Amino acid sequence: MGQPRNHNHAIVIGASIAGLCAARVLSDHYQQVTVYDRDALPETPAHRSAVPQDRHVHILMARGANEFERLFPGLLDGMVAAGVAKLDNRPDCIHFGAAGHVLGTGHTLRHGFTAYVPSRKQLEWQIRRHAAAVPNVRIVHRDVDAPRFDGKRQAVTGVLLSRPGDREFIPADLVIDASGRGTRLPAWLREWGYPRPEEQTIDVGISYATQQLRIPDGLITEKVVVAGVSRTQQAGLGMLFYEDGTWGLTTFTVAHASAPQTFAEMCTVADQVLPARMAAAIRRAEPLGNIAFHRYPVSRWRRYDKLQRFPAGILPFGDAVVSFNPTYGQGMTMTAIQAGHLRRLLASQTRHLAYDLGRATAKTTYPVWTMNAIGDLTLHGSEGPAPWWYRRVGALFDQFLGAAETDPVLAEWFLRRFSLLDSLYMVPPASIIGRAIRHNLSAWRVQRHAMSPLRDPDPVLDI
Ligand SMILES: Cc1cc2nc3c(=O)[nH]c(=O)nc-3n(C[C@H](O)[C@H](O)[C@H](O)COP(=O)(O)OP(=O)(O)OC[C@H]3O[C@@H](n4cnc5c(N)ncnc54)[C@H](O)[C@@H]3O)c2cc1C
Repeated sequence: MGQPRNHNHAIVIGASIAGLCAARVLSDHYQQVTVYDRDALPETPAHRSAVPQDRHVHILMARGANEFERLFPGLLDGMVAAGVAKLDNRPDCIHFGAAGHVLGTGHTLRHGFTAYVPSRKQLEWQIRRHAAAVPNVRIVHRDVDAPRFDGKRQAVTGVLLSRPGDREFIPADLVIDASGRGTRLPAWLREWGYPRPEEQTIDVGISYATQQLRIPDGLITEKVVVAGVSRTQQAGLGMLFYEDGTWGLTTFTVAHASAPQTFAEMCTVADQVLPARMAAAIRRAEPLGNIAFHRYPVSRWRRYDKLQRFPAGILPFGDAVVSFNPTYGQGMTMTAIQAGHLRRLLASQTRHLAYDLGRATAKTTYPVWTMNAIGDLTLHGSEGPAPWWYRRVGALFDQFLGAAETDPVLAEWFLRRFSLLDSLYMVPPASIIGRAIRHNLSAWRVQRHAMSPLRDPDPVLDI
């Protein structure tokens, strides 16, 4: 903003959340930014065939909302005007269960906490509307066949667009690959004589089933309902109250467990993981349309940051770099954080943009990826190599969440970290660890006392 635009043309492959955020940042530094998407982009909030995950519940973390607003000022007010629920310090609007513990969120939080609850199609449309309004950004419905690589310059010099029977070359100074987790960049790198990035994966074996619902008024006062999976329960659910007055209900299973196929089976999951009043409300709901299904076999982190050689003129971005376990709801927020790195690095006029962006992205990815891996591998039944300390941290967190069930200070600490607000590191300070230990010790003493056969009988009042 307010800086000279030193470069001519940047191209972004993909007009989903990552591509649009990247385009906004590039628009401050390039005369022209063109975003290509293979999908015909709808004029109103609507599902897109090339983004099949958009039918499923997408949680927008509080940190993500802040980051998107920084990129697109006015975005959040626009969403609220469209009917999106804004939860201003309203923990009572959130039912949050994690690893089998329901957090004590029914108390006023000590620190402000604002969350927004848009449907994914609403959020993406609002972001697209703002990006399209930037004067030097053009969003074009075209399929990119491949970037063009110039072997002499060892650089990407533009893209080839698919045309029936032909390919059209569009030159660019920089190409951003925001084509999602199915990106072909690793294969292109090999074609151009570069190594493929090493991939870290976690075999999470997740299956999603989503049903839109109309729930009779007044039956559920919360706007966000989350019940994550646990050691003993391989099914969980997320449910959001949308801007049009309907609900999105997503049930998911992990570790290759079989997933619900019908609404009745989804209701059974609700019975298992929600308080009875909520499960009963879902049973009274009117299902709208068909159930949408999605399989998500592995979380994947492509380690571009570790490559010794990388061509000039191209950057991987968003899910094309790292695709987080979607049940933790972090992907969009992490993409917005990456856009912040890009903004800072372009402003610094670094001569090593790919290297520096890779490093900055890895630095913010590491804590979130690691905590997810600990949850997946030690609590949620995923298979994969795990360092010895994962189990210890997993067990400690189980204890911590147990204490957070009845201690609102611990619940708030967890909720803010889970929302990626205070820090990306889920490492409690000594004061919070001490509080959790004290809390669990006194709960244990009460329980032991209650179970002791030598305990004094209840005093009998002699009247
Ligand atoms: C089931 C599921 C649930 C999720 N839930 C959450 C959640 O609760 N919260 C959260 O924050 N995140 C969630 N995510 C992650 C979130 O969807 C992504 O992080 C987010 O969409 C950013 O992805 P992206 O823009 O990099 O890629 P995508 O959203 O996958 O978009 C890629 C875009 O590139 C376009 N494209 C691809 N190839 C080409 C080509 N050759 N030419 C032109 N265009 C092309 C596609 O049409 C598409 O528009 C979830 C993901 C999944 C799979």
